[in-house]
Amino acid sequence: MMTNKELALSYHNNLMKNKPFGVWEHLTVDRGLSINTIIKFRLGYKDNSITIPIYNKEFDVVDIKFRHLTGKLRYTHMKGGKPEIYGWERLLKNDKFIYVEGELNRLILEDRGVPAITVSGGAGEFNKDWIPYFKDKKIWFWFDSDDTGKKGVKRVVRILDNIPKFCRNISPECLKEKEDAVDYFVKYKRSVSDLKEEIKNAKEIIVDNNNNRCKKSDIDRFIKEKDTNKEIKILNSFDFIHKTLGVDNTANPVLTICPFHKDKNPSMAIYDGTGYHCFSCGAHGDGNIDFVMKFLGFSYREAVDYLRNYYNSCYLNNIMKSSEEKNVKKTRKRNTNSA
Ligand SMILES: [Zn+2]
Repeated sequence: MMTNKELALSYHNNLMKNKPFGVWEHLTVDRGLSINTIIKFRLGYKDNSITIPIYNKEFDVVDIKFRHLTGKLRYTHMKGGKPEIYGWERLLKNDKFIYVEGELNRLILEDRGVPAITVSGGAGEFNKDWIPYFKDKKIWFWFDSDDTGKKGVKRVVRILDNIPKFCRNISPECLKEKEDAVDYFVKYKRSVSDLKEEIKNAKEIIVDNNNNRCKKSDIDRFIKEKDTNKEIKILNSFDFIHKTLGVDNTANPVLTICPFHKDKNPSMAIYDGTGYHCFSCGAHGDGNIDFVMKFLGFSYREAVDYLRNYYNSCYLNNIMKSSEEKNVKKTRKRNTNSA
């Protein structure tokens, strides 16, 4: 069996050898990519899709993203592909970079010598395990200027919770809704020096996180200890998810209704101890903390505080108390009725 890397390479060779009609033009003209970039990032071609290998921080290919050129679906992943940072080499080595929405937006920036990253899961997808790598980074966000893009930026900035040095927003005036970096360079023929102006004018993104934000030194300590922190391991177990979703059996995986989309048939699998994954909407995470962040729209810090309270059983006690009270009231009512 081929490894992912070999698979990606075979698609790449297919593209380079055959330069399929329309596809080569699509990449080099419509998408503004040079041959060097196509080679450097091992873009490929398979079944009428452009293939983009996604690497983890150890530079293994963990996913191949398919950009379909025909049909209804625009993007699909390799089977089992999870959201991943696309641009680990930037995150690990660069102090500043542009954070865009989508692989092709990253590629056109890289093509023009501008360091950029994205996340392979779509706007706003973010895994809290990545947070420490963003410490003290200077980030310019450049997502699509539509609703999804705006919400996505806010969500990511919220999760990052003051860890980067700053988060600023690039929004070139020439771009209309849904237009992106590719349009900026290809359609509007802007240059890197134009982009430098946009970067200069970029405004800080202010996200109202919450009133009881803890001190930055606390966050630093917390992140440092994160991996060995026993408390986090407990907080990050699965019983909150189980209780919230009303799952009461111990099968592994448990299939349940997904709370992140309008789910009719159970399409979310909870793998005990490792994660949850929705096969319909792609919602994905590794435990309680991540789940609470998504479910309640909290930052990492807020989710941890929330779960601390939960496990200190204030939350549980309250629920039990209120249901006891209801029962007492019911019993009283019954007694009155029968009297
Ligand atoms: Zn779902």
